[in-house]
This record gives sequence, C-alpha cells and structure tokens, in this order.
Amino acid sequence: MVFDSTAHSDHEQVSYFTDPETGLRAIVAIHDTTLGPSLGGTRILDYDSEDDALEDVLRLSHAMTYKAAAADLPLGGGKAVVLGDPDEIKREALFEAYGRAVDCLAGRYITSVDVNSGVEDMDVIARETDHVVGTSGGLGDPSPITAHGVFHGIRACAESVYGAPSMDGRDVVIQGLGKVGRSLAEELLADGASVTVSDVDRDAVDAFAEEYDVETVRPDAVYSQSCDVFAPCAVGGLINDDTIPQLDCDIVAGGANNVLADRRHAAVLRERDVLYAPDYVINGAGLITVAKEYLGGTRAEAFEEAAAVGDRLLEMIELADERDTTVLEAADAYAERRIEAGKRTPTVPS
Ligand code: NAD
Repeated sequence: MVFDSTAHSDHEQVSYFTDPETGLRAIVAIHDTTLGPSLGGTRILDYDSEDDALEDVLRLSHAMTYKAAAADLPLGGGKAVVLGDPDEIKREALFEAYGRAVDCLAGRYITSVDVNSGVEDMDVIARETDHVVGTSGGLGDPSPITAHGVFHGIRACAESVYGAPSMDGRDVVIQGLGKVGRSLAEELLADGASVTVSDVDRDAVDAFAEEYDVETVRPDAVYSQSCDVFAPCAVGGLINDDTIPQLDCDIVAGGANNVLADRRHAAVLRERDVLYAPDYVINGAGLITVAKEYLGGTRAEAFEEAAAVGDRLLEMIELADERDTTVLEAADAYAERRIEAGKRTPTVPS
C-alpha cells in the first residue's frame, strides 16, 4: 500500500518516529540526496489525520529538493513534521527525543526551524545531534539575507522587462511588512525606487511610513495599485483567480512562499504578460544562509552569495523565453538538470 502511493513514489526514505515517554510522533521525509544531504525544517502542527501529515511532509520535502538545486547548493531535499498541538507538546524532553531521531539518520537529514518551531527548539535538538541548523549559535535571522536575494531577483526581472536592472524611478508595491518586506523596502528605496507598502497590521504600516519615505495602501486595495513590480512578502496563496485580474503590474516577484494558489497561475500570469519570478528561486537566499551555517561559512559570505539569486533567475527567464514557457517551468528544468548531472557524477566521499 505504502510503496504504491504515488506521492511516495519518488522519495528515497520516509521514516516514522515515536517515543512513548514524551509522546513524540514525527515523520521525516528524505526526498532526494543526489546533490548532498537533505535539508529542511521541522514543522509542528496538529494535523487532522496522519494521512494529512504524511501528504504535507512529502510535498514539502519534494519542494526542498528543487529549492536547493535551483540555488546551486550541494544539498538535497528533506522535511519533517511533528504531529500535535504545538502549545501542548513543546517540551524539552520531546525535542531531545526528536534530536535522537534526527541523529539516527546519520546526516542524511539536517533539520531547522519551520512553522511552530524556533531557535530555542533547535538548541534543544542540538544537544542530541550535530545535524541541525538555525540554533542560537548559528548565523542568525536569515530574513535580511532572504530580502537581499529578493532584491537582486527583482533587479533581474527589471533587466528582462525594461532592459536595465536599476530600480531608480520604478514603482514597487510590497505586500507584507514583516521581516523580509521591511528589509526589501529599505534596499529598494536605497536603489531609488518609489515604494508603496501594505500590511494587515495597520500599526506596522504607520510606524514604517513615519520612518521612511513610502506610500501606503490598504490591504484590500493592494492588488489593483498600479505599479511596475508587485512584491508579495506576506503569506501564501494570495495570487489566485480572484486577485490576478486585479493586478496592474509588469512583474510579480517577492519573498513569500507558495505565492501562487495553484501552479497553473504561473501560466495565467504569463498569458497576461506579467513576469512571475518563482517563489522558491527568488526567496532561496534563506536556504543559502542555513546551508552556509551547516557547510561552514560566515553571515557576510551568505549575504554576498544572495546576490547570485538574480543571475540564476535571469538565466531561468532566458530559458523560459527560449522554450516559450513560464519561468516556473524553466526553474524546474534548471533544478532537474542539476540533479541529473549529479547522478552522472556521484560525489566521492572524502
Ligand atoms: P513575517 O511573519 O515577519 O511577516 C509577514 C507579514 O505579512 C506580517 O507583517 C503580517 O502582518 C503580514 N500579512 C499577513 N497576511 C497578510 C495579508 N493578507 N496582507 C498583507 N499583509 C499580510 O514573515 P517573514 O519572515 O517576513 O516572511 C514573509 C514571507 O516570506 C513568508 O511567506 C515566508 O514563508 C517567506 N520566506 C521568509 C524567509 C525568511 O528568511 N524570513 C525565507 C524564505 C521565505
């Protein structure tokens, strides 16, 4: 039954862990380690069913393989879910048991923070295993580095659409003024862009507008705001059948994960002549930062490497033009090409 499941069919390993003493119930999915050990966060959620948890971890680990490959990292894709109400199960003993579970995978899976797991939890896991990043002794909050990558991704899109990467005089709307959105706004302003910000948190918008020379727009009016670049930096799924017809921009490029409600929306945007930068490519500098922490390196190096997000994205845009397809399809092809090349040249253990 399990091996016949189509969702399972291309995963290398799916491991279930229980610890009766602490109540730990976890699933670790290792999708692909062709390019290196699998890396992906641990999500803690009270899933409706075990099937839902399995489906989520399989989907997320698959996506991590593509994200790592598209960022030119020597890493594969993995993800873990811990089942349960985060408020009830977040106990040190449970995270220690989970750390031992991660450790027994012998470095094939490296964990990190995700929904409902944070730096303090990674510190507990690190008591039991070396295969964890995002601890308090690590490289720190990746958000400004993620934003730096998004900034260079936006410049790459501008180069493709307008023939020059400079954001001087360009109008950018940023949806979501959190950790990524704020840093992105600062970089765009420094490059000469006119920036309009929006957030459901009205106080955050007001405070930002007092400090910086930005316009503001209400969350419900954000999509129809005329601009060159619409930068989604809030939550997923906000580019969908309802919002796409409202868009009045040339480019959709921002930091949010799972921006499109459905994969087919990449083609819908293309039909409307809107260039969409795939989320997993343009926000890849977050992964570059945690990879740097695991593989060894400094925060300054991660920041420097984040700029290469723009070069890679431009290559994918050109590939999409050549193939007359979406940049999302081209990004997948780019990642698959790296993985196939990795299969032909297996790494020699040092
Ligand atoms: P955050 O929680 O700091 O900020 C998100 C902001 O979006 C909040 O201010 C929130 O009020 C706002 N928001 C939520 N729903 C909204 C809506 N409907 N309209 C307008 N604003 C809304 O999160 P973050 O770390 O800045 O991450 C932003 C996005 O980028 C997320 O999708 C995240 O998964 C993704 N991402 C973040 C990183 C990183 O390094 N932080 C890396 C990769 C991807």
